[in-house]
Amino acid sequence: MILDKEHLRANLDEVIWNIEQARITVSEHHIVKLVTVAKYTEVENIATLYELGQRAFGENQVQQLRERMAQLEELPLEWHMIGRLQKNKINNLIDLRPALLQSLNSLDLAQELQKKLAAKEAKMHCLLQINSSGEETKAGVSPDEAVETYLNIKANCPDITLKGVMTIGAHTDDEKEIQKSFEITHNIYEKLEKEGASICSMGMSGDYELAIKCGSNLVRIGSALFKA
Ligand SMILES: *Cc1c(COP(=O)(O)O)cnc(C)c1O
Repeated sequence: MILDKEHLRANLDEVIWNIEQARITVSEHHIVKLVTVAKYTEVENIATLYELGQRAFGENQVQQLRERMAQLEELPLEWHMIGRLQKNKINNLIDLRPALLQSLNSLDLAQELQKKLAAKEAKMHCLLQINSSGEETKAGVSPDEAVETYLNIKANCPDITLKGVMTIGAHTDDEKEIQKSFEITHNIYEKLEKEGASICSMGMSGDYELAIKCGSNLVRIGSALFKA
């Protein structure tokens, strides 16, 4: 559905207000970046949000990312890949030069990405995705292997610049469980700060305020911005 500008402005204002309320409970200096997840919405709504001041957008499929980048080529947008990256799409993604691949979810994928980056003499900024809830359907490295995997990628993949970690909160109504998955991830993030990690990406439409209170400094929000 294509939403008009005033409608999108009201949704955006509400989200920004909620982010503001949550972040000041952490610290006045705790700054949170909002990445708009555009995967379910029309390209027109992305352009309107740009007019309203949004710059960073995320997609979860390489194909859709490519189409949108082409359609909105004239706008100075920052694009993030946030979804599962299939190995046969790695070259396509490299050619798109996304600002950040948030979903680097295994050492194996990192090694494959490194090979292809080297062949193209390209580099990529990435987050290591952590499966903090232990759900089988979710991608990501397990929390007990996360620090080791991060250091391994850092040491062995010179064309990958790791900027931090990403997680998807537990899929449940039990707030305690969701909070636990964020705390686990933030804990790992804190250990990696001395390794240069600066991004802790956690929180979606249903749980971003909780994620920020647990230390998230990047939220990925889709449906709350595009609700009718
Ligand atoms: C779809 C998606 C989001 C946004 O989800 P909403 O609940 O619509 O805000 C965030 N992160 C990832 C990885 C996603 O795939």
